[in-house]
Amino acid sequence: MSTVESAPISSSQADAGTGVANDVVSDANGSAKEAPSSVASRPFEADVQRVLRLVIDSLYSQREVFVRELISNACDALDKRRVDALTEGERYRDAGAPEIRVHFDTKARTLSIADNGIGMDAIELAENLGRIAHSGTRMLSEELAARNASEVGAGAESPTAELIGRFGVGFYSVFLVAKAVEVLSRPARDRQAHIWRSDGLSGYSIEEARRVEPGTTVTLALKDDAGFEPADLRAAILRFADALPHPILLSQDEEAPTQLNRAEALWRKSPREVNAETHAAFFANLSPGAGAPLHTLHVHIEGTQVFYALVYIPERGQSLFGGEPKSRMRLYAQRVPVIEACEALLPPWLRFCVGIVDSEDLPLNVSRELLQDERVVTRIRTQLTKQLVSGLKKLAQDDPDRFAQVWAAHGTVIKEGFHLDAGYAKELESLLHYETLLSEKPISLASYVEAMSEQQPAIYYALGDNAHLLRSRPELEAFKEAGQDVLLATCPIDPWVMAALPRFDDKPLKSAFDADAAPLVDNDVPAGDDAWIKGLRLALQDNVAGVEYSKRLRQAPACLKRDEDALPAHVRRALEAMGQRVPETKATLEVNATHPLVAKLRACAAENAEPETLKSWGEVLLGLATLSEGELPADPAAFARVLASQLAGS
Ligand code: ADP
Ligand code: MG
Repeated sequence: MSTVESAPISSSQADAGTGVANDVVSDANGSAKEAPSSVASRPFEADVQRVLRLVIDSLYSQREVFVRELISNACDALDKRRVDALTEGERYRDAGAPEIRVHFDTKARTLSIADNGIGMDAIELAENLGRIAHSGTRMLSEELAARNASEVGAGAESPTAELIGRFGVGFYSVFLVAKAVEVLSRPARDRQAHIWRSDGLSGYSIEEARRVEPGTTVTLALKDDAGFEPADLRAAILRFADALPHPILLSQDEEAPTQLNRAEALWRKSPREVNAETHAAFFANLSPGAGAPLHTLHVHIEGTQVFYALVYIPERGQSLFGGEPKSRMRLYAQRVPVIEACEALLPPWLRFCVGIVDSEDLPLNVSRELLQDERVVTRIRTQLTKQLVSGLKKLAQDDPDRFAQVWAAHGTVIKEGFHLDAGYAKELESLLHYETLLSEKPISLASYVEAMSEQQPAIYYALGDNAHLLRSRPELEAFKEAGQDVLLATCPIDPWVMAALPRFDDKPLKSAFDADAAPLVDNDVPAGDDAWIKGLRLALQDNVAGVEYSKRLRQAPACLKRDEDALPAHVRRALEAMGQRVPETKATLEVNATHPLVAKLRACAAENAEPETLKSWGEVLLGLATLSEGELPADPAAFARVLASQLAGS
């Protein structure tokens, strides 16, 4: 005897218990067996129909999501079977190995997805499939109602799609492509199977049926205009289900089924079980053509948040202002990929990382918009960032050469963390590596400090755009002579790094270009202000703040002393190139009393030479000092003329 149940698909959990579920319970109790068959289909309540319509309309361009939803339901059912079998192993004695079979019948235009998982009885069919979007429905309809009806009515597609994306469509996504759906299911504990049928418009019915094996088969009769072909099915499975841990077998018409996915989620394995080759292959899959990863981080976090992550550091760096993607991290929810390039998973200064995060706590329907205020994701991001930074620290200790490669490729981007995420500055400072005045191999701040003498009061750095050029800067001559090292900070972010890092290991960081930074050289610096210095100051007053004898120069005739808070010349240039107006600040011209050129000027002054001659030599000195900073004199052609005429005349 067969029992037929028919009821409207109810709009909320509360409603669900009143209709078909109760009737089936009484059916199970052996009473009122015939009654349900007389229940005719009832129409949906108005708002349910509207919601369903909206779901279908707004998700139409992504209609393959139904594949993701059905396959993930099948996977859940297989997982539940695994749990059930722990205590009720006997039920599954004859059941085959867990698998999902997908079949496309091109003649009948039907598509079926079958699993041999936990299955459902009549009550479960009614309860689980009898509600639209479950608890989300009511909220969704309330929010839709709250919106201006004209906005929705006017086909404001994007906000509506956004809204719908925030609520699971789950099983109901089948109606994106199906004109009718049947769910044939049998739980392992029961021999009786049932079939649930619906056209997604009027309601559903449940009827007794036969299924030899426990499990569930969902069969879709495709709409005539579904526009969904076997190739779309295949592509969707590969896209959504490649990493799912159960085999997915696909067949078409008379063809034998073939397994499409690899059926293993690498990131969920124990790190010890995954070797470097497997990682390399997986990385190649994520980032084709990028070679082998420089470093791999395999994370499993338990606690308030459960997630698995695989993060690879690629060989090739990203440029600071380049057009690279903002993220190459994929987000999975319970083994199902949900967001392709998920910026929220890592801070921007780790955007070079390639990988996967698989959360146990996020719903499958999580959308990019929702992620913004999803606490789960914030926690994942914090945890993962910590793990990555400490992983890099460990790499720097265990394998300095490998770390050097990572730093060379990605150090610049990591350094952005200093001004983007001040909270990590403490952690990040131990990753900093710089070439130095005395070492071409980048060293850490800790090694710098280790090599410092007791007397050295600070850690010195020099900002510039090229280490080689910095090494020949006049301001660093005294450091070289004293064997006192200087960090050569040559990346565009370094001014911000240094600003964010006043101290390291209790030692202050200071610019080596500050006039009082240099170790003193025993130049014979004449005491007091010679009259000629006063004369030179007067002659150059339009261009410099002052002229004085240098205490740090050895070989160069002159250099410029800038205010401590003045921007270094190359930074000023970069800012100006970006269209910013940077106020002009005058520097002080420092002259080397032991240099023959300076001696010559003094002699000129002593001989009461023309003020013009003094001014011309002063301009030569100023121009040379500017050039040795790697900058052009304010008027290069005028400088060339004055230099040439002074050389000719001397
Ligand atoms: P969700 O998966 O988020 O719970 P769905 O609409 O996708 O929402 O599915 C509703 C419920 O239907 C599931 O929670 C599950 O209990 C049941 N279900 C769906 N498909 C299957 C299946 N293949 N086997 C067993 N139960 C299923
Ligand atoms: Mg589901």
